[in-house]
Amino acid sequence: MEKHARIYVAGHRGMVGSALVRKLQSEGFTNIITRTSSELDLRNQAAVSDFFQREQPEYVFLAAAKVGGIMANNIYRAEFLYDNLMIEANIIHSAYQTAVKKLLFLGSSCIYPKLAPQPLKEEYLLSGFLEETNEPYAIAKITGIKLCESYRSQYGCNFISAMPTNLYGPNDNYDLQGSHVLPALIRKFHEAKVNGQPTVEVWGTGSPKREFLHADDLAAACFFLMENYNDAMFVNVGTGEDVTIREVAELIKETVGFTGELRWNTDKPDGTPRKLMDVSRLHDMGWKHTTELKDGLARTYQDFLTNEVLYVE
Ligand code: GDP
Repeated sequence: MEKHARIYVAGHRGMVGSALVRKLQSEGFTNIITRTSSELDLRNQAAVSDFFQREQPEYVFLAAAKVGGIMANNIYRAEFLYDNLMIEANIIHSAYQTAVKKLLFLGSSCIYPKLAPQPLKEEYLLSGFLEETNEPYAIAKITGIKLCESYRSQYGCNFISAMPTNLYGPNDNYDLQGSHVLPALIRKFHEAKVNGQPTVEVWGTGSPKREFLHADDLAAACFFLMENYNDAMFVNVGTGEDVTIREVAELIKETVGFTGELRWNTDKPDGTPRKLMDVSRLHDMGWKHTTELKDGLARTYQDFLTNEVLYVE
């Protein structure tokens, strides 16, 4: 990509999109195109088509999505399917129509079957049943992969896909019903510490394992793939290491400095028992993450303290 290339980052206000914008700015790109959701509703086909015709982006990072944790995915099943399908279909089709040079679509590790062998290799896609709590989201993300593959094979579009593991970082969602586990626990432990509460409720059994990647590492990986990767097969992006929810809860408790007890609420779902990424494809290309979980959590807690008024309404 030339430094003055027209680069559209879809979803620039989100955790991933904002990390991509920071990365592109730090690399000296000068022509980054963004739209807020009130300026451009990505679910509206005519609006997206007009936007692409007018702006003629050359490169697209598709980081716009309706996202959320285990509860949000399970409750807003129709929205997770409809919004994500519309966003992907509108952007990918418009990118084809306006001859975008390259597009990177972002998926998720929940595309893999619930009981797939671990670590998850790219070729395990569609080899078994999905986890029921986030099946609509997973189906939408699998469709995004298939759109990229299909526009590549039928029309020769250079559309690639990256599948990140669980992410965390600045601009995460701290709403306790909708958020993922890391922001939820940072907020819960912080508020318990400040209010002098003796216990914090944590969901499930604590035995599921998750892999966590800092959003800045994901942005670096996406940039690397945009510069170096041109194949139909999507690429896993993660650290290749996972921890139990119990371990990560203890780590956050320590990071925040909460001294009380954890209370495990097993009425809440565990979700997939494990979803460790096999990242050898990415490692073989020469890319590896740089932020380890402990440091990343410390940075994220600092960011939470700085932006608490924005994050917690
Ligand atoms: P998942 O990776 O799609 O399952 O999404 P989450 O990040 O929402 O949940 C990961 C795991 O953390 C699940 O086993 C949850 O039950 C567990 N967990 C523990 N406490 C919480 C919490 O306060 N919020 C959320 N979202 N998950 C929690």
